[in-house]
Amino acid sequence: MIQSQGYAAQSKTSPLAPYSFEHRDPRPSDIVVEIAYCGICHSDIHQVRDEWGGSMYPMVPGHEIVGRVTAVGTAVQKFAVGDLAGVGVMVDSCRVCVNCKADEEAYCEKGFVGTYNAKHYDGVMAQGGYANAIVVDERYVHTISKKLEPKLAAVAPLLCAGITTYSPLKHWGVGPGKKVGIVGLGGLGHMGLKFAHSFGAHVVLFTTSSGKEADARRLGADEVVLSKDPDAMAKQADSFDFVLDCVSAPHDLNTYLGLLRLDGTLCQVGLPETPLPVGAFSLVKNRRSLSGSMIGGMAETQSMLDYCAEHDIVADIEMVDMDKVNEAYPRVVKGDVKYRFVLDLATL
Ligand code: NAP
Ligand code: ZN
Ligand code: ZN
Repeated sequence: MIQSQGYAAQSKTSPLAPYSFEHRDPRPSDIVVEIAYCGICHSDIHQVRDEWGGSMYPMVPGHEIVGRVTAVGTAVQKFAVGDLAGVGVMVDSCRVCVNCKADEEAYCEKGFVGTYNAKHYDGVMAQGGYANAIVVDERYVHTISKKLEPKLAAVAPLLCAGITTYSPLKHWGVGPGKKVGIVGLGGLGHMGLKFAHSFGAHVVLFTTSSGKEADARRLGADEVVLSKDPDAMAKQADSFDFVLDCVSAPHDLNTYLGLLRLDGTLCQVGLPETPLPVGAFSLVKNRRSLSGSMIGGMAETQSMLDYCAEHDIVADIEMVDMDKVNEAYPRVVKGDVKYRFVLDLATL
């Protein structure tokens, strides 16, 4: 077994604290990644605090992982010792269902194995990226272009915030001539702005925070709307092809459905802990669609990373030492981060 050190939550109320655990010895197709950086996703906070229910402890969170390969199994083909590597939200899936075969492992019929707060198919707990190392089958590890190496810490958030916004924007054909709304300027939202702008759409940010306008424009917004301002909202009604909702807390979906033009789609990626009631009238007007999207498949995540290398896209980050992780969480919840915290595992 591989002895590992990290930070874990022991219960939904305990702070994260140093924790020693074991990873399996690498199997033939496994690689061992020494973790350099790990992003703090709001999903980490939801799960550590058991806001979605069913959390398993001890929990080493973290699914925005970048690092370097330190060992490879005998059958590994994609990686050599010393290569950069990225691990996102899943570390395994059934590989044989119709969705896995279609490169849509996020929708594996058996359920993919999450990077943490999950059990491997053999029953062993999976532990995530707030740790010095992880052992993963190479099929579930991404290569990272050398072009991105100087910005490696800012690459980490691409593994969740990046793919979770890239995938729906691609799926719903966001590009030139499309008017696109991004709701909530946090970790996901700021990547949504960057991608939607890069794809050539007209991009509007909807925010509850009056202080984010200048940043939003720098990140790719053509317009910024304070969602608390009813007049500003009314001016945008019935005009959007696509709206991506990245909000982490309960909010009124009907407000954002009202933005959609004929056949427009609102896609929910934010995962508040309570249901979001929808009025039927909000949907039938303009033949609107309400949808959702979960991360993205392995091949699409690799395409996203390659696109980012080609177009010089990374996250805007604030680095955090491991012993400050418990101070970072409440700041994320308050929206006091620009726009993703990344843990520096060298400080472990
Ligand atoms: P984050 O950095 O905390 O950003 C959330 C943003 O939502 C905030 O910056 C804020 O933006 C807005 N917001 C917060 N509280 C609000 C409230 N009470 N009312 C209205 N707006 C509010 O979170 P994140 O890491 O981007 O994650 C966002 C959500 O996506 C989380 O629920 C996370 O679990 C989920 N998620 C889903 C997937 C998936 O596969 N679908 C993947 C990753 C994460 P403004 O200040 O601009 O209003
Ligand atoms: Zn995440
Ligand atoms: Zn499957």
